[in-house]
Amino acid sequence: MPRIDEKLIPIYEDVLRRNAGETEFHQAVEEVLESLGAVIGKHPEYLDNALIERICEPERQIIFRVPWVDDNGQIQINRGFRVQFNSALGPYKGGLRFHPSVNVGIIKFLGFEQTFKNALTGMPIGGGKGGSDFNPRDRSDGEVMRFCQSFMTELYRHLGEYTDVPAGDIGVGAREVGYLFGQYKRLTNRYEAGVLTGKGLIYGGSRARTEATGYGTIYFIDQMLKTKGASLDGKRVVVSGSGNVAIYAVEKVNEFGGKVVACSDSSGFIVDDGGIDLGLLKEIKLVRRQRISDYVGLKGSGAYFSNKGSVWEIPCDVAVPSATQNELHANDASALIRNGVVAVGEGANMPCTPEAVRLFQSEGVLFGPAKAANAGGVATSALEMQQNASRDSWTFEETEARLAVIMRRIHDSCAETAEAYGAPGNYVLGANVTGFVRVAEAMQAMGVI
Ligand code: GLU
Repeated sequence: MPRIDEKLIPIYEDVLRRNAGETEFHQAVEEVLESLGAVIGKHPEYLDNALIERICEPERQIIFRVPWVDDNGQIQINRGFRVQFNSALGPYKGGLRFHPSVNVGIIKFLGFEQTFKNALTGMPIGGGKGGSDFNPRDRSDGEVMRFCQSFMTELYRHLGEYTDVPAGDIGVGAREVGYLFGQYKRLTNRYEAGVLTGKGLIYGGSRARTEATGYGTIYFIDQMLKTKGASLDGKRVVVSGSGNVAIYAVEKVNEFGGKVVACSDSSGFIVDDGGIDLGLLKEIKLVRRQRISDYVGLKGSGAYFSNKGSVWEIPCDVAVPSATQNELHANDASALIRNGVVAVGEGANMPCTPEAVRLFQSEGVLFGPAKAANAGGVATSALEMQQNASRDSWTFEETEARLAVIMRRIHDSCAETAEAYGAPGNYVLGANVTGFVRVAEAMQAMGVI
């Protein structure tokens, strides 16, 4: 049985029973419940009024068929999801993930995490997540467009700037958001800019939104290092993944004077001891949509590719897992610790397994959990909604400056909560408790919802 306070065990067992087989969701709930033992000591009323049970149950779950026609004239069918988890603090907010691994359990774990992450930002956004088992890889632009149009033909009736505001996640970037927005506009005959975030700059997107998740994660790591009188300057960094989060994490590490020596994709990883060439990485991943292994040939010399072992075996001072859930296991954490890692910040959602997190914590490694460390993306989505609502558009500098302030506040509230609960430096506890209490208090104020 997990390390959950015995008063919370029946709640956890109920979650297991009612969501059979949804292992990622179980894991996300377990991680939050482990932090809540201390909270129910201070707030016994949360047990009496079933608040925790209610928070673990999504407000609404939508599952739908997405039929579309491929370039060969064949009919394809995918499954679409939107889990509207919690709207106590604002409209449901969270990305859409298009990846063949997507199922209801994955979307539920992401929606659950998103609820607390969004609360942590201090902005008026509830939590939700959606997506499909559609695989955009190797699909033509036309196929991606027809898929997005069919997906939105069902989803639009559940959305709205005051109801539910999706954005991107894995497999959903500016191209997909554009097709989704175009179809929403046709179906509703409304130019409702605030219904989606991550839009192109020409039609209501926010500057710095693309960069925000990666930048924010590095700001968070910088804040953690500062508590020890350290900085990123001169640090060797490994960033897993090579998507939107990873690329802009690399960019910000460079700005802080660090050096990223390795990154990866699902086919393997590259190591470049002189520091990853960011321009080349962007060209390969954002323009050509190629595999990371192509970096080696294009770079010429100094780099190598490996599809054996793990990127976490590459010695580094700072690790930024930015690929996907459960990508960093206990043996990876042990390798990083052996090699002297001092800080880990989760750029992806739940990339470290619970065993890996425990190892980092017991060895005194600064550990920034996703809910806090990668909240800069959704926070900047909320800034996009703010600009849309006021029909305004801010400069890159202004938007990034706001992001930096938000990340510092998130860091400080996690640190203060951890301190107040007698666990200084425990950002997992700090993030879970701060996010939970904000959602819980809003729900309490609204009666039985
Ligand atoms: N998918 C991102 C996340 O995990 C962003 C969501 C959003 O901007 O709404 O937080």
